[in-house]
Amino acid sequence: MTQTPRSPDAPLLLEVRNLHTRYGRVEALDGVSLQVPAGQIVSVIGANGAGKTTLMNSIMGVLPCSGELLYQGQPLQGVPLETRVARGISLVPERRDLFAALTVHDNLQLGAYSRRREKWRADLDDVYTRFPRLLERRTQLAGTLSGGEQQMLAIGRALMARPRLLLLDEPSLGLAPLIVRDILRIVQGLKADGVTVLLVEQNARASLAISDEAYVLESGQVKRHGPAAELARDEMLGASYLGGSNASG
Ligand code: ATP
Repeated sequence: MTQTPRSPDAPLLLEVRNLHTRYGRVEALDGVSLQVPAGQIVSVIGANGAGKTTLMNSIMGVLPCSGELLYQGQPLQGVPLETRVARGISLVPERRDLFAALTVHDNLQLGAYSRRREKWRADLDDVYTRFPRLLERRTQLAGTLSGGEQQMLAIGRALMARPRLLLLDEPSLGLAPLIVRDILRIVQGLKADGVTVLLVEQNARASLAISDEAYVLESGQVKRHGPAAELARDEMLGASYLGGSNASG
C-alpha cells in the first residue's frame, strides 16, 4: 500500500494542542497534541482504554474538554456539534450508531439531514457507487446487515455530510481480516478523493499500513509519533502493538 511522503508544507486541517478530557476524576486525555495535515491519513493507535474514543468525541464536540482544537486554523472550542458537521467534520462512531429498524436508504438519508434534497441526491449516488453492496441492500433494515456492511453504512452515512475531515473510530472492530482489508481500502479511496482521515485503531498493523503519520496513545498521553512506515518497523512498538518484533506485511 502506498503512502504520501510527508510534505513539510502540507497545511494542517486539524491541530490538537494540549487536550485534556475528564470523566469525573478519571483524566482520559492528559495533554494530547497532534496534527492532521490536509489530504493525509493520520492514525492514532492504542490499547483498550488508551483514550482513543475520548479523543474522537472531544474533537467532534460531544465531550467537554480543555486545550486547543484548531480546524482550518480556526478554534473549535465553543462551536456546536452541528456547526462542526456543517464545516466538514464527520464522525463514524465506534459502535456505528445506526438506526437498526430503518433501511439502508433511510440511514443514509439521515446522514444528510441538514442538507436540501437536491444537494444530497448526488452524494447518495456517490455513496452507492462507492459501496455497491449498500445499493443492493438499499431496502434492507440496517440491523440485519453483516458487521462489515454495517461499517460501510456507517461510513456512507458520514459521507452524506460531505466531510473534509473524517473521524473514524475503530472501523475494524469485530470484523474478519478480509473485511477489515476491504474497509481500509475504502478509507484509502476516500483519501484519494481528497478526504482527510483521522483513524483510531487497536488494529495497529492494518491502520499503519494505510496511514501517512501515526501517534501512539497510552493512558491518555501521546507516547510516540512519526511516519507510519517508520512506526510499523519499530521493534519495541511491534512487541506491544503489532503482535511481534517484525511489523512488516
Ligand atoms: P477502547 O478501545 O476500549 O474503546 P479507548 O482507547 O477508546 O478504548 P476510551 O473509551 O476513550 O478508550 O476510554 C479512556 C478512559 O476513560 C478509560 O479509562 C475509560 O474507562 C474511561 N472512560 C471512558 N468513558 C467513560 C465514562 N463515560 N465515564 C467514566 N470513565 C470513562
